[in-house]
Amino acid sequence: MVKVAHVQLCSCCGCLVSLADTYEKLLDVLNSIELVYCQTLADAREIPECDIALVEGSVCLDDHHSLEVAQEVRKKAKIVVALGACAATGGVTRYCKGNQLSKPVHSSFSPLTEVIKVDLAIPGCPPSPEAIVGVITAALNGDMEYLQPYAELAEKGSEACGCDVIYKVVNKSLCMGCGTCAAACPTRAIEMLDGRPNVLKELCIKCGACSVQCPRIRFPELIEKIE
Ligand code: SF4
Ligand code: SF4
Repeated sequence: MVKVAHVQLCSCCGCLVSLADTYEKLLDVLNSIELVYCQTLADAREIPECDIALVEGSVCLDDHHSLEVAQEVRKKAKIVVALGACAATGGVTRYCKGNQLSKPVHSSFSPLTEVIKVDLAIPGCPPSPEAIVGVITAALNGDMEYLQPYAELAEKGSEACGCDVIYKVVNKSLCMGCGTCAAACPTRAIEMLDGRPNVLKELCIKCGACSVQCPRIRFPELIEKIE
């Protein structure tokens, strides 16, 4: 049985709620895994050795406990998954500037992807239930092709941006105008103009959801392989 841990850092718990929103699919997932750690749902104090750790939330660099937990997860888990925008790319915690009671010195937050080596990152605020189940199922089956965009986002971390679909797809004449990127954007930062996406930078929270969902984002890489 595959051992899975859910770890919460600086987050709202919405990613775990999204996992629960999979309803009957959650029961299928829970039949295939052993949930060995989840402070919201199970009474285990220490993070045990596990196969997959789903980590939600960013890391407060001014909080030694937050840093220690991130390092502990890396030691204990074979596969570390940054679950949701805060862990993957920083999310709303990128806007934190400190000076709030009761910990005014807690001012710097980094996505998990910039603090430890992360294997897969699932974007979204929260990530969709389908994406979470899809990644867990693919990880259980070793489906590396399905996981590739999530592995790429884990490497990219806070560099992710709505501009990615423009540079990598539209500017290379690969966009087919399907609108998937606009549908995936949680802040409506992408509008379709004349059948092509236009990114409204002031609305983009740099979550990476648009590029992970774009069916053509990996075309340049695939073309290189063919050549
Ligand atoms: S354009 Fe939207 S989906 Fe893409 S990175 Fe920005 S906020 Fe995320
Ligand atoms: S998802 Fe990709 S192919 Fe579809 S409209 Fe957006 S950039 Fe174009």
